[in-house]
Amino acid sequence: MHCISMQDRHQNVAVGKIVCVARNYAEHARELGNPVPDSAVLFIKPAGTIVADGGTVLIPSYSSDCHHEIELAVLIGRTGKAIAEAEALDFVAGFGVALDLTLRDVQAGLKAKGLPWEIAKAFDTSCPLSAFVPAAAVADPQRLRLRLLVNGEVRQEGTTADMLRPVARLISEASTYFTLEAGDILLTGTPSGVGPIRNGDRLEATIEGVGTLRVDVRQC
Ligand code: ZN
Repeated sequence: MHCISMQDRHQNVAVGKIVCVARNYAEHARELGNPVPDSAVLFIKPAGTIVADGGTVLIPSYSSDCHHEIELAVLIGRTGKAIAEAEALDFVAGFGVALDLTLRDVQAGLKAKGLPWEIAKAFDTSCPLSAFVPAAAVADPQRLRLRLLVNGEVRQEGTTADMLRPVARLISEASTYFTLEAGDILLTGTPSGVGPIRNGDRLEATIEGVGTLRVDVRQC
């Protein structure tokens, strides 16, 4: 069982599934040459992909182009199916900082063949995740600044105000396909500026008012 911690409450939460959305910021969709989608493009990482703050990311040997994607993580606090957008934020237990690490070379090959993305998105250590702050500690999840440093250099900077689908809409849409349960996590997409990470890099991802996540990188 994989657990994450809730700050201030000194409790651990068992993680279920991690539901992720692609192309949720227009600038990022553009930088990869993708159209802005009509409905959310969703995929799932298993809980075993989580790396805690201070841990090490292992880029698998079948890739030489692993990209960083800083994302706001949303912890679900109770079970819901087909959740109405107006009630969706009531299902949120907390917020955290995540990296949706992506093997861009492998993903490009899969996309070209029309194949699923799992081996590019859900490899071991592909989901570094900070501790979570309680939902009540975040006044407005659509007004948060995100910043990712690689070896101290700014690579991604953005605001959750630029999400194409805000958190409430994502919860509503994701829950039409998948029952969301306590301990499930939503990754909400990345702003522009994605790029490669390499052996020996140190990543520092910060979302103001939520937290900071630091991991090291090793190429296998
Ligand atoms: Zn992502």
